[in-house]
Amino acid sequence: MTRALSARQSPRPEHKDYRSYSFWLETSGEELLSRPSLPGPAEADVAILGAGFTGLWTAYYLLTQEPSLRVVVLEAEISGFGASGRNGAWCSSGFPVSPGELRRRFGREAARELLLEMRSAVDEVGRVATAEEIDAQYVRGGQLRVARGPSQLPGIQRAYDSLLELGLERSVRLLDADETAGRVRITDARGALYNPHCATIHPARLARGLARAVERLGGEIFERTPVTDYEVGGKSPRLVTDWGEVRARTIVLAGEAYLARLRKLRRQLLPIYSLIVLTEPLSEERWAEIGWEGRECVASNRYTVDYLSRTEDGRILFGGRGAPYHYGSRIKDEYERHQPTHQMLRSTARDWFSALEGARFTHAWGGPLALPRDWMPTMSYDASQGVATARGYTGQGVATANLSGRTLADLILGRDTGITRLPTVNHKPRPWEPEPLRWLGARYVQRGLMKVDDRAERTGEPPKGKTLAEWLGKH
Ligand SMILES: Cc1cc2nc3c(=O)[nH]c(=O)nc-3n(C[C@H](O)[C@H](O)[C@H](O)COP(=O)(O)OP(=O)(O)OC[C@H]3O[C@@H](n4cnc5c(N)ncnc54)[C@H](O)[C@@H]3O)c2cc1C
Repeated sequence: MTRALSARQSPRPEHKDYRSYSFWLETSGEELLSRPSLPGPAEADVAILGAGFTGLWTAYYLLTQEPSLRVVVLEAEISGFGASGRNGAWCSSGFPVSPGELRRRFGREAARELLLEMRSAVDEVGRVATAEEIDAQYVRGGQLRVARGPSQLPGIQRAYDSLLELGLERSVRLLDADETAGRVRITDARGALYNPHCATIHPARLARGLARAVERLGGEIFERTPVTDYEVGGKSPRLVTDWGEVRARTIVLAGEAYLARLRKLRRQLLPIYSLIVLTEPLSEERWAEIGWEGRECVASNRYTVDYLSRTEDGRILFGGRGAPYHYGSRIKDEYERHQPTHQMLRSTARDWFSALEGARFTHAWGGPLALPRDWMPTMSYDASQGVATARGYTGQGVATANLSGRTLADLILGRDTGITRLPTVNHKPRPWEPEPLRWLGARYVQRGLMKVDDRAERTGEPPKGKTLAEWLGKH
């Protein structure tokens, strides 16, 4: 148990209507009352900032390997409040840096190892959900990267070729237009790349179930306890809150986009918003028109990312980036409700599926994800300072956070395993530019890539990769 050294009366952050932050939190099957807050200064072996997938998986693997450890998690809101409780439901082996780019940066073997570990992470999430009896609605449907229009066909061929170069093409298949329609009928789909290493999940149920699993193992989670800073040096590192510090042998920074709010990390990550709209449960007639019995995760091959999934109760989730970056890396609830982006997503969803004519959209939400300067996630541990962190998933963090949790646990426990030698380990991207350059650059790339996508769709010609925006946004 954590030793509370003293307690002080302080006003707590307000209790929010957490169900309103996403369909997933709304249907988590719980009332979403918060756990107790940190009562006062405390000591632990490992103190973790953030109860999203990264923080919770790290706590989970630490405690399964070393049950005697005192692990404390400090969460600003409630477990699963961040991207982990709001995402597109993809538990995918996809990695933010493309296979070809990974090979160029780290060599064939390291790239291959990393991508194989991503595939294992998809399996591992399903395994733990079953073992811990978490009703995560894990369905292993695979993933379809669809070429919508002729301009996107070369892109899926290139994606296949880059897996082939790494010897990872087995069980991945290029589908022609008819084979694609046999799975899901999308307007103007010319073909697709099918990858079986992907599942859909109920993200909030997974996050909330993991939090309970951590507690069963003896971990302690304090909610509505924002960490305002962290300190290293002196006798031990510590997480600082308005109600006292938690001193530990190791502190773990697992706050993803929200880490940009901490002064010391402001330029490490760029918070970018991803937004989602959701239909009502569709009728059997509409589903008969659409198909999609396999519940694959679906995306097109645009630069401006889109992602779709089919929910357990028969709705279509349509997500996408494109909401503007905010000056100074600001994060605010109102940015998640960017009306023009939500409107654009609803209208694009109707373009994709004519069967959505007249169907209602019942939910719209979003959240911040974190971009490191080189798109490459970091899983790092500095033993001399006692600081670990995993972050920078660039919007592909569901399975990656599982790999992070296992990696950080091994690093902190001093275990030299295959995953502690992956290129993500102790990776240090350079910081983002100071403002106003950061704002100018981010907005320029966002707008530039949208224009490249629109031109490709209009002309049927694939992007040539020669614009400045493509070069800057290359990953
Ligand atoms: C709309 C959206 C859709 C996405 N879709 C997908 C998808 O389909 N598939 C996929 O793989 N990835 C997706 N992602 C990304 C993925 O959800 C994230 O990468 C992943 O959940 C990150 O987990 P995390 O635990 O690192 O961060 P988060 O889930 O953001 O958790 C961080 C937690 O830390 C807490 N916190 C932050 N700062 C502090 C502080 N100072 N003190 C205390 N607590 C703090 C936050 O409240 C939060 O609960 C999506 C992201 C968004 C926003």
